[in-house]
Amino acid sequence: MSENMGFGSACVHELPEMRTTRPHELPIYATSSFVFDSLQHGIDMFAGKEPGHTYSRYGNPTVDAVAEKIARLECFGTELKALGLFTSSGMAAIHTLALGLLKSGDKILTQANLYGGTTELFQKILAPLGIEAIYTDLSNIENAAQYLAAETGIRLLYLETPANPTMACVDIAALSALARQRGCYTAVDNTFCTPYLQQPLALGADFVVHSTTKFLNGHGNSISGAIVGADPALMRERIWTSLKITGTNGSPWDAWVVNNGLKTLELRMDRHCSNAMAVARFLEQQPAVSRVNYNGLPSHPHHELAKRQMRNFGAMLSFELSGGLQAAIKMVDRLRFCTMAPTLGDVDTLVLHPATMSHRNIDPALRQAQGITDGLIRLSVGIETEKDILDDLEQALERL
Ligand code: PLP
Repeated sequence: MSENMGFGSACVHELPEMRTTRPHELPIYATSSFVFDSLQHGIDMFAGKEPGHTYSRYGNPTVDAVAEKIARLECFGTELKALGLFTSSGMAAIHTLALGLLKSGDKILTQANLYGGTTELFQKILAPLGIEAIYTDLSNIENAAQYLAAETGIRLLYLETPANPTMACVDIAALSALARQRGCYTAVDNTFCTPYLQQPLALGADFVVHSTTKFLNGHGNSISGAIVGADPALMRERIWTSLKITGTNGSPWDAWVVNNGLKTLELRMDRHCSNAMAVARFLEQQPAVSRVNYNGLPSHPHHELAKRQMRNFGAMLSFELSGGLQAAIKMVDRLRFCTMAPTLGDVDTLVLHPATMSHRNIDPALRQAQGITDGLIRLSVGIETEKDILDDLEQALERL
């Protein structure tokens, strides 16, 4: 700061960098732009000759650190060197990926039981742009192979496994291999598993998307997402371009919050899994419960596939009450410990009624066909003391 500055200028201008040692924890870089040392420095940075940050929509040290960490976790234990991008939501991640990869006339081959927001994105935003989504049963590999062979223009195979709320799984390795033979990319929504439980890139997928709002954060205090791509050059050219132009970048604050969550990911996921297994086994014994959908139970139709492609079976499960809608209302209203909230992946146990909440806009006949009956309840099992969750469920199920 110049000695001759006026008071107003002294208030306005930043002081030189105060940092003398490396911070122990990731700092929040709350700045929209970065300063050039000279015009030539600025020219070189904009021309891509010199690496560095210019404008936070293009990249920011806090955001990049978290994107890189998620990419490394998706590749952990493999030879892969993927590139990650951090986005303003899970939906922003899916939409940025689709717009970066696809153009009018291209098609997406996908499954009917996607997260509702993803189906809406495909129908309400991508379809009017000339990008058509084809929905089919991807648990049937033959069926997928026939579509990929017969339909021209399929450029993206989009998977979600396990899928909400029945925990149906699809075979990532088999489907990615088929897609590759046809010159088609594969993307997997890995929100439910996190890279600790499932690594789609290691199974042959090209991209992973996340709602980091969920387990990666784990504490329910931010909305954000991530895209990880196995080919860094493709990620830079197509997906980063899509992100920086459409402005779907995540904020430094949200990245920082997710970074805090990531530190305990392994511990949280282990506890989520053991609690969920205990809840699933308990529910299986209850007379009011006619079906439990949990990948960890041998009764789940995709138990063997889940065992093959997942390290453990996660926190998500659903169960059906034989008493239908009235029993579901009664039971959910009796819960005192579990919280009713339209999200998942937080440290506390969350309950949701899919037929009237997350899946209410789906045609009832289609919903029933997918196993989403009026008596179905979804749980995102938290990391609390196991007995407290079981006791709450037990009292809520009594004499239903
Ligand atoms: N993918 C899955 C599997 C989800 O459950 C969700 C939201 O619930 C999303 C994507 C969208 O994430 P966000 O709400 O962070 O945009």
